[in-house]
Parts: sequence; structure tokens; C-alpha cells
Amino acid sequence: MAVSSKVRLYVDHPLGAGQSLPLAREQAHYLFNVMRLGPGDRIAVFNGRDEEWLAEVAKAGKRGGVLLCVSQMRPLQMPPDLWLLFAPIKKARTDFIVEKATEMGARRILPVQTDFTNAERIRRDRLQAHAIEAAEQCGGTFVPEVADLAPLDRVLAGWDAARGLWWADEGFAGMNRGADVPAAQDGAAASGVRGAPGAVLIGPEGGFSPDEQARLRALPFVAPVSLGPRILRADTAAVAALTRWQIACGDWT
Ligand code: SAM
Repeated sequence: MAVSSKVRLYVDHPLGAGQSLPLAREQAHYLFNVMRLGPGDRIAVFNGRDEEWLAEVAKAGKRGGVLLCVSQMRPLQMPPDLWLLFAPIKKARTDFIVEKATEMGARRILPVQTDFTNAERIRRDRLQAHAIEAAEQCGGTFVPEVADLAPLDRVLAGWDAARGLWWADEGFAGMNRGADVPAAQDGAAASGVRGAPGAVLIGPEGGFSPDEQARLRALPFVAPVSLGPRILRADTAAVAALTRWQIACGDWT
């Protein structure tokens, strides 16, 4: 019997002492063909809602199998209450954003349609699967929910003003921090309290339209935030904004 500490598997199933966990075909393929595990081997399992558990392979087959929960390993660790709003871009780069947002500890991922967003549709199930894979890989016990694509206007209309929204404003690009960007203008310096709910908003390749910029500027819960003097690609900007928020308000102590 081996404990494979490297293997962590997400299961959409309640976890508890003696609980049996039926495996889907692709999970069985991964455990038994790719990782070469067999009956008696032990792995870590999590479901994003409960503690992480040690589970033992009870049955291993080509098209399925069963794990049995043995003992609790780690408590559920919720990330800070941080949401990522982003305008979907090309497929691979959108996948990257979801993967990195999960690693960076976003609690919810909301694709939003903006005036200059190309994508009219997203494959929510595929993006959710990317979030699950990222949580498996990064040791997270929590999996962020990927929401359906929604118009930015509608999301802002239903916004809870207690959640401060950092708007990554490309208008700051080209400015030098300190000299050209007065601290009062860069909302990150003023807004955001450690432990309070927050969100970051990243625009598409074309940036935000003048109408959107005016609307965002007028909303009391929105703080325009600089991500430095260079124009970042949207996927880089998502990671940079989440990093900046985690350092200022989140779990990067
Ligand atoms: N087409 C836009 C332009 O030339 O100004 C650039 C858009 S940029 C590729 C995509 C998004 O990343 C922006 O809408 C913004 O949210 C964010 N972003 C990129 N660089 C930034 C910066 N230096 N400061 C703040 N946000 C930035």
C-alpha cells in the first residue's frame, strides 16, 4: 500500500468516515492508467465544501472504480472573499485566467461582456473544469465557482456596495508611479480593507469604452487601480491585479 501525496483528486461527492466514492471513467483512467495506482493505494480527495480526506482505492477498473474515505487530512481553507471579473478573450488565454485566478485564491470568477468583448459565449463547464484542475494542482481545498457570462452593466446594477471593486484602469499605463500617479488617484492606495469583500475588474484586449469608463468612474464602490506604467495583456493584468489585492487586502501577509 502506498500513499501518493502527489495525487489529489476533486470529487463531487460528500466526504466522511467510511464514505465510498464512485469514480468516473476519466478519474479511473487518471488514477489507474496514468498514475499507476491500484487497490490499497491512498490519495488525497477534496470536494471544495468539506475537509480534505485521505482515501483508499477499494476497486480499480478500466471504466471506473471506488475509493473509501479513511481519515481527515486538512480543514477546508476558504480563500479571502475576492471575486475576479474579466472580459473573456481568446480561448487559451481565458483558460489561463481561470487557472491563475484559482491559484491566486479568487473565490468567484465572473466572465463579463463589455462593449469591446469579442466573445459572445463561453463554455462555463469547461472553465469550471479548469478551476477544478487548478485547485487539484495547487493544493487548494476550495474551488471557485465560474459564473455564466453576463453583461457588465447588469453585474454592476446588482452590485453590493459593501464589496469594493478595483477597476484595473489602463489609463494609468504610461504614467510613473509616485510622480504621475498621485496616491489619491490610484484607488488601491485608499480603498480595500484586509478581510473585507473585494473584487477586481479586467477589461478585454480593446480596453473599456468611453461610456464604460464614465460609468465606472461614477460608481461609489469602484476604485480605479494602476497595474504599473506598461500596458499588460488582459491575462497578465488579471494575475497582477489579483496579486496586488492579495498583498493589500488578502491572505498574502
Ligand atoms: N487596448 C488597451 C489600451 O491600449 O489602452 C489595453 C487593454 S489591456 C490589453 C486589457 C486590460 O488589462 C485593460 O482593460 C485593463 O483592465 C488591464 N490593464 C492592462 N494594463 C494596465 C495597467 N498598466 N494599469 C491598469 N490596468 C491595466
